[in-house]
Amino acid sequence: MKSTDRRCFLALASAAGLSSMLPAAYRANAKAQTMIKAGGIEISTYSDGFLTLPPDMFATNVDTAQRTKALQSAGQIGTTVKSPINVTLVRNGKNLIMIDAGSGSRFMSTAGRLAAELEGAGIDPKAVTQVVYTHAHPDHIWGTTDDFDELSFPNAIPYISEAEWAFWTAEDAINRVPKDRQSFVVGAQRNLEAIKDRIKLMKPGQDVVTGVHILATFGHTPGHVSIEVGTGNDRVVVLGDALTHPVISFEHPEWHPASDQLPDQAVTTRKRLLAKLAADRTRIIGYHLPPPGLGYVEKKANAYKFVSVTN
Ligand SMILES: [Zn+2]
Repeated sequence: MKSTDRRCFLALASAAGLSSMLPAAYRANAKAQTMIKAGGIEISTYSDGFLTLPPDMFATNVDTAQRTKALQSAGQIGTTVKSPINVTLVRNGKNLIMIDAGSGSRFMSTAGRLAAELEGAGIDPKAVTQVVYTHAHPDHIWGTTDDFDELSFPNAIPYISEAEWAFWTAEDAINRVPKDRQSFVVGAQRNLEAIKDRIKLMKPGQDVVTGVHILATFGHTPGHVSIEVGTGNDRVVVLGDALTHPVISFEHPEWHPASDQLPDQAVTTRKRLLAKLAADRTRIIGYHLPPPGLGYVEKKANAYKFVSVTN
């Protein structure tokens, strides 16, 4: 079914009261995970499902017992770990801005729910005016195109950092990653190709629109950025994957998750971010922090603590 036909089918099914016949992924959830404001700008998050990951991905430079203990203290036991995915939507006047585009249907069967969640909440993907990518890993950019290789947000202007674009589109990009990550390059290139004619390259320090500001948080990937939304003291930092785990990233910022491409730089970035976020008590939204992804950072002994906020 083409995506336009699928949308038609959904509208018909819903009008006919057939929503109980729809697959679970298409059933209306009809609300965001959270809805907050910063500097008058509306910010909400939607679930893209979750990643299913092996525990050893969460820290590669510590022994198993230490890692297991940290995962356990986040309630994560067993041979696989669920890592939630929270995608942020910013509404600022006439701008409707997605921060990242979710995983799409080709990455993991437990991820890729974003389109259905937005549909359930009554958000028309055609109304999205900008998509700002934190980085080009699969769970952030593969949702740029749908099952039919059509753009998921056909009217949006895409933004990505210059450094991130340069890394993934380099001719030898495939040789710059380990063998088991080469599919990340293929997927990033497929999705970047689909938006290359309209993409805007940005630098940290720039604003996408007033109140939506780009911060350098390099390390997880070479051009990873976070997005600061709001004004003055009323701000929220949408972290992307600068801080990914509610215990490990905060209490052990020096540990190396396997997903960090430049591990030392990622550690430096985490420590700098944590110190600043705790001092300013800035609200944060983490792409992989417990739903809705919202909280803040508190100083704790020699490290930090994530305080989750649900509303
Ligand atoms: Zn991620």
